Amino acid sequence: MTTLLLTHPACLEHDTGVGHPERADRLRAVDGALAAKDFAGLKRGQAPRADLQAIERVHPKAYVEMVRAEIPAQNHNWLDGDTVVSPGSWEAALRATGAVLHAVDQVMDGTVDNAFCATRPPGHHAEPSRAMGFCLFNSVAVAALHARAVHGASRVAVVDFDVHHGNGTQAAFWDDKDLFYGSTHQMPLFPGTGAKDETGVGNICNAPLSPGDDGDDFRGAFENRVLPALDAFAPDLVIVSAGFDAHLKDPLAQIRLLEPDFAWVTEKLLETAEKHSGGKLVSVLEGGYDLDALASSSAIHVKTLMGA
Ligand SMILES: [Zn+2]
Repeated sequence: MTTLLLTHPACLEHDTGVGHPERADRLRAVDGALAAKDFAGLKRGQAPRADLQAIERVHPKAYVEMVRAEIPAQNHNWLDGDTVVSPGSWEAALRATGAVLHAVDQVMDGTVDNAFCATRPPGHHAEPSRAMGFCLFNSVAVAALHARAVHGASRVAVVDFDVHHGNGTQAAFWDDKDLFYGSTHQMPLFPGTGAKDETGVGNICNAPLSPGDDGDDFRGAFENRVLPALDAFAPDLVIVSAGFDAHLKDPLAQIRLLEPDFAWVTEKLLETAEKHSGGKLVSVLEGGYDLDALASSSAIHVKTLMGA
């Protein structure tokens, strides 16, 4: 298997200030883990900037211009209580979204088998017209619409195992039967969406977990709900919102996953992608706030993508 790893140093320049959990050290932890010799077989690349035209398939032009206008010349500016931007945030956001677009290009044309985008800011909380939850542009939703518009994909799935519900992705996909969103996440927890009865036009599959749930509960939610729905959808491309904040050690939630659980779900998603789309899968870093758990969990995820 050829796995592409995309990142960009500009993603370190999105400065969220002292004490913010979504910090540049997260990316340094992931980069450090993926520098080990086990990962010598990765194809490595730098993320290009996303075209605004691609972003505007999901986000109205007025929203994109608002984000750009809110970037401060110095210090910080808050778009909501959690979502902060600094002078480097615009470039970081363009590179983070550009990574996923480039990964989709490379996977859809068969240059690589699959890809992991080690980038920030994350994206899955960004709604079409609203920044929130540390997120500016919804990279996975932008990438899904890009796969359809540019590569002729008929059905694109996003599967999200971040511990928070991807309200932004759900909102972007809500009434489009050819886009699938499946998610496990803790409830109750930020952002408050993700109940089982939020089903869109039958294309949304939420499998909430309770505080204290462990790997058996997580695997059961995938086996019983998300994977059968994904299989029935028969995607031409699987995009993964890979957040590692459901780890036992994560400070922002109370789910108790361990590294083998992330390997397991990665393997299951690869199997489904293999069945329907020749294995086409693009994974994107979302959350994960304990640096050690983030490093080890993203490493086992990428190792599984490599088939190692
Ligand atoms: Zn999260």
